[in-house]
Amino acid sequence: MKSDAPGDASLMTDMIDALENGEMGIHLQPKFDLRANAVTGAEVLARWTHPVRGEVRPDSFVNIAEKSEAIRALTDWALRTTIATHKRLRATGIDVALAVNLSGRLVADPAFLANALTIISESEGQLYLEITETASIGDEEDALRHLHALIEAGALISIDDYGRGLSSLTSLRRIPASELKIDRVFIESLQHSARDALIVQSTIDLSHALGMKVTAEGVENEATLAALKTMGCDVVQGHLTGWPMSEAGFIERFAPKPRAEAG
Ligand code: C2E
Ligand code: CA
Ligand code: CA
Repeated sequence: MKSDAPGDASLMTDMIDALENGEMGIHLQPKFDLRANAVTGAEVLARWTHPVRGEVRPDSFVNIAEKSEAIRALTDWALRTTIATHKRLRATGIDVALAVNLSGRLVADPAFLANALTIISESEGQLYLEITETASIGDEEDALRHLHALIEAGALISIDDYGRGLSSLTSLRRIPASELKIDRVFIESLQHSARDALIVQSTIDLSHALGMKVTAEGVENEATLAALKTMGCDVVQGHLTGWPMSEAGFIERFAPKPRAEAG
């Protein structure tokens, strides 16, 4: 179905309302650390149930939001929601890093930065900002200055969807990232393509040499997990180690269980 401009505009008005009226929520997807053999993080993924349209996929509303100011409202909301969620998770004994998606377009936006710095400074736990590589970030002085300010405020930077689209070595050289996430197109074909396996292995080695940890996205089976372990990958994320789930589901699964009383 092709989206037309008037439809996009009404969807964005509805999305702004959804941020206020509780229709917009989040799911958490576990990030499993292969050395610690434990879930040490989670990605925050927006979920919208529209009263008429039903579930709206984040791919579609994020893409439309990115064409306007709406992306700033969505991202502010996601950051606030994440900080509140972090507090509640920690109260149940779950201490994981949370990762919020940040559109590359926003990085150079001064209005976004001012808000984000305030919100991030309230974070109690580790907070990653997953930035989708855009061709420009590595070249833009403003964007780089903003990334350093976000780090100063306590955030960690993650390069998202690495390998998809226009990945540039410039951004690896210049973006002050702590983590690199290899896009799932490479992970899905790891078992069948020697070429993709070589690309993944050399990306892992290069990231380590640059001081970044590596997360593989879209890990769906044990064979892929085993291969990534052998390659020295640090973290896996995908349906094998956990689908995106509600906060209640995450707590149910990962909160430390009280020991059963003896006798
Ligand atoms: P992403 O950042 O690459 O997020 C991972 C996507 O892969 C999620 O889709 C997740 O459900 C899916 N996924 C996870 N494990 C697997 C797997 O094993 N196999 C497969 N085939 N897929 C897997 P989702 O939730 O539909 O999100 C799509 C995209 O929407 C995200 O891609 C992200 O770019 C964007 N997005 C979601 N929430 C937000 C948000 O709050 N802000 C912004 N700016 N973007 C968001
Ligand atoms: Ca992401
Ligand atoms: Ca991704």
